[in-house]
Amino acid sequence: MSTNKNKLLFIIPGFFYIEEYQKALYYNDIPLGTLHLSSFLKERVNIETQIIDLRVEQENYKNLDSTEPNDLFKVSLLKCLEKKNLQEFQNIGINCYTSFQYLQTDLIAKILKKEFPKKPIIVGGYHPTAVPKDFRNSFFRESPFDFVIRGEAELSLLNLLKSNNLKPRRRTRILNSNGCIEINTLPFPDYELYLEQYPYKNKFKFEYFMSRGCPYQCAFCAQNYDFRSFTFQKFKKEFEKLCRIVEQYNYNAPKIAFADQSFNRVSISNKVVDYLIQNKLNEKFSFSCQSRVESFKNNLNLIKKHRTCGMIIGFGFESASKRLLPEMHKTENPREYIETMISILNQYKLSDGPYCRLNLLAGFPGEDQSTFNETLDFVNNYAMHENIQISPTLFSNYPNVFVYKNMQYYENEFGSEFLKEWWKLPSNAFKNSVPEKPSKSYTKKQLIGEYKENYFEVLKAWKKREIFSELILWKKFFNKWYEEL
Ligand code: SF4
Repeated sequence: MSTNKNKLLFIIPGFFYIEEYQKALYYNDIPLGTLHLSSFLKERVNIETQIIDLRVEQENYKNLDSTEPNDLFKVSLLKCLEKKNLQEFQNIGINCYTSFQYLQTDLIAKILKKEFPKKPIIVGGYHPTAVPKDFRNSFFRESPFDFVIRGEAELSLLNLLKSNNLKPRRRTRILNSNGCIEINTLPFPDYELYLEQYPYKNKFKFEYFMSRGCPYQCAFCAQNYDFRSFTFQKFKKEFEKLCRIVEQYNYNAPKIAFADQSFNRVSISNKVVDYLIQNKLNEKFSFSCQSRVESFKNNLNLIKKHRTCGMIIGFGFESASKRLLPEMHKTENPREYIETMISILNQYKLSDGPYCRLNLLAGFPGEDQSTFNETLDFVNNYAMHENIQISPTLFSNYPNVFVYKNMQYYENEFGSEFLKEWWKLPSNAFKNSVPEKPSKSYTKKQLIGEYKENYFEVLKAWKKREIFSELILWKKFFNKWYEEL
């Protein structure tokens, strides 16, 4: 039997100041990183783990849904933790996956430290990796966190659990991961842990990673760390298991999203597509992936192959502005890049089959009226077709992206204006993450106004949309935001 020392409770925080439209985006994914960590630790140190996802627990404890920090949130949190037998767990790990979770992560840790001072609190995820100082004590701040893990958590957490040092500390200790783990040695994610706790059918999105990191360095992206791929043997073994789970849980519309940052750069991607075709998996599942435009340059046959296995490809095109594309670090040759995108879109228009997604990024520093219109004209001239789904989004200035680290450059070059440390403000973090001014002559209000009016028409025109209510939610969210500005 495990002793108390060998029990670790993972907590997944929700987001304060969130709105309905954002919940639809952020509240139905399975926290795969934590499940990877759980199975890895179980295999290496025979630890017992448990998980509490506060995004899901809101269905049982209504006040966990509080839009802002308050006492009702605290009461609900403690009730929820008591029901899950928090007392049995010696160690607490909080996954602050995105900066949008920062305020709730901080509050949860403060509550727990006060109520259970003997339990060490560990925090990890993208935000602690980018801004570890937000979690440690300083002259101005008493911190509830005992350990902050920067970078990949597996090895740091393993060493911590094996050491005799896992106890509450007067001073927060920052653990930097030394090197990257060999991902082929990782066990299958601990889906069982999550789905036993939350056995809901047809609720969650299932994603699958067969690589980590990304070989590219886009200026707006937080995923650009060391790139590594699975072997095909590992993929096959894991994918069979995943298919069984997805069939069992999402029998209404079994979907698997390949979450690799750049599917076609993963060394086994061709073999994976062949495998899906040979095993006729498209007859049971729909698949999707993300890819780079240049992966299909002079290779349009590759599109045919992906469509044969039912794969919806999301192309990270982002902008049709020849000025912005190099600024985004997307390409040094924007003319060729745009031409390649046009050939890909033409290929989709030629025959029926799975559609593709055209991902666009509006509001990148330097964006102005003319660059915004260039991209919109591109959409209207080349992409309005039932086999092409337009997927626009707004640039968010996450603390671990190139832009955040180089704000002075954009301020000097384009007159951009940013909110620094926006994740600490007591209001909607996503809205605060969008720059106040993408460029000197283009304000956030102008951007949101044009974005909502123009892209609503584009999104509405797409005939293959399954659920219209999502679009209404989208429009409501942006209308309200525009009024607030
Ligand atoms: S946007 Fe895509 S291609 Fe660019 S660095 Fe991020 S994950 Fe890689």
